[in-house]
Amino acid sequence: MRIVLLGPPGAGKGSLAGLIRGMTGIAHISTGDMLREEMKKASPLGKEIRGFVEKGALVPDDVVTRLVEEKVSHDPGLDKGYMLDGFPRTVKQAQDLDAMLTRAKKPLDFALYMRADPDVILTRLTGRRVCKACGALYHLKNKPPKTQDVCDLCGGQVTRRSDDHEDTIRRRMDVYAISTKPIIDYYARQKKLKEVDGNAKTTDVRNHLISLLNDDKSDQDQKPRRD
Ligand code: AMP
Repeated sequence: MRIVLLGPPGAGKGSLAGLIRGMTGIAHISTGDMLREEMKKASPLGKEIRGFVEKGALVPDDVVTRLVEEKVSHDPGLDKGYMLDGFPRTVKQAQDLDAMLTRAKKPLDFALYMRADPDVILTRLTGRRVCKACGALYHLKNKPPKTQDVCDLCGGQVTRRSDDHEDTIRRRMDVYAISTKPIIDYYARQKKLKEVDGNAKTTDVRNHLISLLNDDKSDQDQKPRRD
């Protein structure tokens, strides 16, 4: 199964990805994580990327699309399928992804759109903290680490992402509205759009997901296999 996860920053796509991985075993590919890895290297590319990410702007399409293409065409761990989180973020990226997957004869199964209200997003992202070592997610109010700034799971340092400050969050929300929201129509026109509620409780999201994935499976059973 190959899917893309869509939705505003802070809608909960990372948690959604964790649920889907638990249910299906498919890999989670986050372009935000891939770009942060490049930033850590402090290479010329990493420095260029940092300039965009820390302003809350999008990294140029060709840079991100190249990273995704390298990953999906060469990683043997993706045989069962994958979900792309944070990609595509522009219609150009969506078109390039379609072209890339058509060439490989492995088209997308569907796009999963997680809707969330702006005030929920702002509360989530201003309080979000992340372990620098293992990536575990925390929230200052809703899920603080047991010891301040120390990861419960690995003892790593828990910090704020450099783009999780309020002015940058607002910029990311604007960028989303202008560049990323049109992708929802792009997939709706292809009849590949499914939706989950990012404001809902985890148990409700899980139940909804189970029915969506089962619906998709019965669709697949009625279609000839595509790969
Ligand atoms: P995320 O972790 O998905 O919230 O992404 C963090 C930041 O990485 C975004 O605000 C962008 O600056 C950059 N980024 C991630 N994915 C993309 C993409 N598909 N296209 C352009 N920039 C991206």
